[in-house]
Amino acid sequence: MESVPCPACSTFFIPRNKSQSFCSEPGCQRIRKALWQKQKLASDPDYKGDQRLSQKKWLKNNPDYWKYYRRHNPEKAARNRSLQKIRNMKKQHPSKPSKIIGIAKMDARRSMMQSLSGQYWLVPTVAKMDAVKIFIVSIPVNSP
Ligand SMILES: [Zn+2]
Repeated sequence: MESVPCPACSTFFIPRNKSQSFCSEPGCQRIRKALWQKQKLASDPDYKGDQRLSQKKWLKNNPDYWKYYRRHNPEKAARNRSLQKIRNMKKQHPSKPSKIIGIAKMDARRSMMQSLSGQYWLVPTVAKMDAVKIFIVSIPVNSP
């Protein structure tokens, strides 16, 4: 059989059969399974219901999971809190994404310079893209 590129890692491999499109690397198989599950959740309401029940049951048996997760992944917890705030705002103003971000006046920027420094998540409001982490650092006016 002719070698084909794996859609996950772009490495050429020889498939075991006609239907194999991802190589056998564990990371690529995880991606293949995640894609399958995403498609299955979108197309099969019974499967989606079973998954939801299974997750509830698991969480009932592991009640401290999220507490532990947030304690050991503070950066991810902060990111999730920020994204949840944005989702909540989107729910309140579904047709006006500008309400979420707000538009600052140019002259207001100067007085806010010091307070702008920090880490932010840049979240697209229109396109379905992942959020990007950005760092805003104020540069002193007299720097070269
Ligand atoms: Zn691969």
